[in-house]
Amino acid sequence: VIQFGIAEKTTRSVCAYCGVGCEINVETKNEKIMGIRPVMESPVSKGHLCVKGRYAWNYNYAEDRIKHPMIRKNGEWQKVSWDEALAFCAEKFKAISAQHGPDSIGIIGSARATNEENYLIQKFARAVIGTNNVENCARVCHQPTAKAMSMMLGTGAATNSFDDIEKAKTILISGSNATKNHPIVGARIKQAVLNGANLIVIDPRKIELAKYTKYHLQLKPGTNIPLFNAMANVIITEGLFDAKFIDNRVEGWEAFKKFISAWTPERAARICQISEELIWETARLYAAESPSMCFHGLGLTEHTQGTESVMALVNLALITGNMGKSGSGINPLRGQNNVQGAAVMGCEPGSYTGLASVKKDRERFEKLWNTNLPNTKGLTLPEMIDTAALGHLKAMWIVGFDVYFTMPDSSHTEKAFSNLDLLIVQDMFLTETAKRFANVFLPVASSFEKEGTFMNSERRIQRIRKMIPAPEEVKTDWEIVCELAEKMDKKELFSYTSAEEIWNEIRQVWKAVFGITYQRIQNNGLQWPCPDENHPGTEILHEKSFPIGDKANLSSIDFVPTLEQTSELYPFILVTGRELYHFNSGTMTYRTANKEIQPSDFIHIHPDDATLMKMKGGEKAKILSKYGTAFLKVKMDDSVRKGECFATFSNTEVFINKITGPFRDNYVQTPEYKITSVRIEKIKQ
Ligand code: SF4
Repeated sequence: VIQFGIAEKTTRSVCAYCGVGCEINVETKNEKIMGIRPVMESPVSKGHLCVKGRYAWNYNYAEDRIKHPMIRKNGEWQKVSWDEALAFCAEKFKAISAQHGPDSIGIIGSARATNEENYLIQKFARAVIGTNNVENCARVCHQPTAKAMSMMLGTGAATNSFDDIEKAKTILISGSNATKNHPIVGARIKQAVLNGANLIVIDPRKIELAKYTKYHLQLKPGTNIPLFNAMANVIITEGLFDAKFIDNRVEGWEAFKKFISAWTPERAARICQISEELIWETARLYAAESPSMCFHGLGLTEHTQGTESVMALVNLALITGNMGKSGSGINPLRGQNNVQGAAVMGCEPGSYTGLASVKKDRERFEKLWNTNLPNTKGLTLPEMIDTAALGHLKAMWIVGFDVYFTMPDSSHTEKAFSNLDLLIVQDMFLTETAKRFANVFLPVASSFEKEGTFMNSERRIQRIRKMIPAPEEVKTDWEIVCELAEKMDKKELFSYTSAEEIWNEIRQVWKAVFGITYQRIQNNGLQWPCPDENHPGTEILHEKSFPIGDKANLSSIDFVPTLEQTSELYPFILVTGRELYHFNSGTMTYRTANKEIQPSDFIHIHPDDATLMKMKGGEKAKILSKYGTAFLKVKMDDSVRKGECFATFSNTEVFINKITGPFRDNYVQTPEYKITSVRIEKIKQ
């Protein structure tokens, strides 16, 4: 129930869901949340909120919220004191490290946690445990983007700002159902089109934005590279490239031209299963009607060639000079509120805070933290699971991430987690990971119950604020890290008394945010780089040069089809993704009224396919892959291509990741959630 008008207090904060980072005014009375309103003057959300963000608080009061630490003893959860829980974790960590070495332990940071908390989590892994086995959920979403953009441009983050949406003449959006997954950005794109901008949609499904575009390229899943290569071919053939920009800012032009000459639209059209003419027209529009701004989502990254798909897209921006100016660039839409923050804070095996290299910058961080740091290579999350499945990883500490429910091919994760000697889960609820496998559960404060900062998709650091007290026996993530460090005899490295104190240490460690003080981001936030306290923040990256030098690198990317192919036995391609009413694993939205609007996941099937299988909307179907079986209700949906199907992954009763496949991105191991070959069977009544 929303009870506006009777609130005693309004506190400005940030939505806890997606990476748009809309600002919210939270209304409270008697230290209880009464409602959420948009912040009218927010530069991000401009006075709007979507159906997720507007009702995003009831999970805070869910009956099944865990409000005390627990240890599983003889198979049963038992309430324990914080002292007992943390002493147990510390003793176990010490014993496992002594017996098997520090690299037998893995720690996962959280997109739900603040920058300050993720900074401490990775510092704990390295300085207390002595391992680089530290990760976050970017590994399963936009790590390919970060890798591709940092290799080609020098920074793995959005080049422009949401305010550029209104400045672009052409917007190209690929692999992102923005009106559902990033609704406020989706709405701004729709508005820009109504105001005259051109829109190109590249997506296997007829998503809502496809209604607003002249060119919808409804390609076969996983064929983005042939398409982008063919678009580059057209741009070069028709002389639509930006010769001046290429001369001054781009490396590898001659080799690229030679490579791309083989990627004719005719060849790509066959692979992508779209018309050749559409490729010609789309390329002309993107190149000629500039500035052109690219957005992309997980439809681009969650493939075996996810990193290379983003690289092929960056090629287009570079050869047309759509880089370093307003209304242009490459702009990943990040899934979770602070997924970018978790990665940039250093919850990655290969990098410290500020994307500093573990290989090159170890000495600098040893001086900054006044301790020795490990020089062994850390494991990624998929590698941790593989290593645990083999019995070599012995312990994991997972913060705010339902790994078992969300990783693909869940039988593999099950095997891995069953092998662990210790699994600590730190969350608000008993997630599927916690229910099935954890030994220790540490309950945490929500984003309404703590101070700190989140980083949104456009590199903006924004403050969240404590407006209600956490339940008595619940702590913030950063407090738990500090107290566990003390139990591990490293109190001197973790003697923080506030989130602001931690942020001020981050400013010293990562100069790109030195100019961002809590005081300066009381309202609106600031975009990094912001190197000094008079700097206004950076709306557009790469205006004059790139962090890697004056010139960015073009890449010649060939197409290698995934090993996950359809067959007579598994004739459909299953694509998984999100929908409007639920957020990711549903841990929060299934504890709000959104559950009433959408009570479950569905399998979306084209009506012609459903008719052939004699299926009706609403009936339950059995979906089988080589990896498992799931049961979902059928939704007739002519937005999916025939021979393909789509399912969301938010409902724990459905558990779609029992059937998703094991293949991963070639560079960074992001799972190939977007292609699993499946069979759909009617269930006999
Ligand atoms: Fe929250 Fe994203 Fe919706 Fe904004 S668009 S209100 S950040 S879920």
